[in-house]
Amino acid sequence: MRIVLVGPPGAGKGTQSIVLSDRLGVPHISTGELFRAHAERATDLGLAAKEYMDRGDLVPDEVTNEMVHRRLEEPDARAGFVLDGFPRTVAQADVLKSYLAEQGAELGAVLEFQVPEEVVLERLLARGRDDDTAEVIHNRFEVYRSETAPLLDYYADRLVPVDAVGTVDEVAARALKALQADE
Ligand code: ADP
Repeated sequence: MRIVLVGPPGAGKGTQSIVLSDRLGVPHISTGELFRAHAERATDLGLAAKEYMDRGDLVPDEVTNEMVHRRLEEPDARAGFVLDGFPRTVAQADVLKSYLAEQGAELGAVLEFQVPEEVVLERLLARGRDDDTAEVIHNRFEVYRSETAPLLDYYADRLVPVDAVGTVDEVAARALKALQADE
């Protein structure tokens, strides 16, 4: 099963990717998490990415795509994955399509986590990660609307909407049910 999670910053994609990965028996791959791990180890990639992340801008495609490509080639990701945070642009979606084509594979469902902006804003301010200041969050919302939201049309043929307001368990149950219904 190859699943992509799409939704605004703070929609709970990271949390749900872990739960879904566990239930579906495929690895979860989070680009934000991979970047933060690189930044903590102060690798070249991590230092380059951190500049963009701290502003709430997208990390350039050549950095992001290469990192995802390498991860998707690892054996555990061959049979499936839950992708959180990638693709975030239509250009990245085209790249993902070509990576999967190399493996003779195709994407399954794209889960869209739907949450009102005021709810995610509150969650993000409470979380308080480095990039969770009001100004940076505002920019991430802007980037989501202009760069990422077009993916909802791009993936219209496999889009599965999920109401993401609720507890972790409630949202996970809805996502799993929606995936089954979609099969
Ligand atoms: P959130 O969903 O709350 O915005 P993430 O952990 O998914 O948090 O992303 C944090 C930051 O990592 C983004 O603001 C961006 O700078 C960078 N990032 C993550 N995924 C991508 C991607 N696919 N392309 C470019 N930058 C990305």
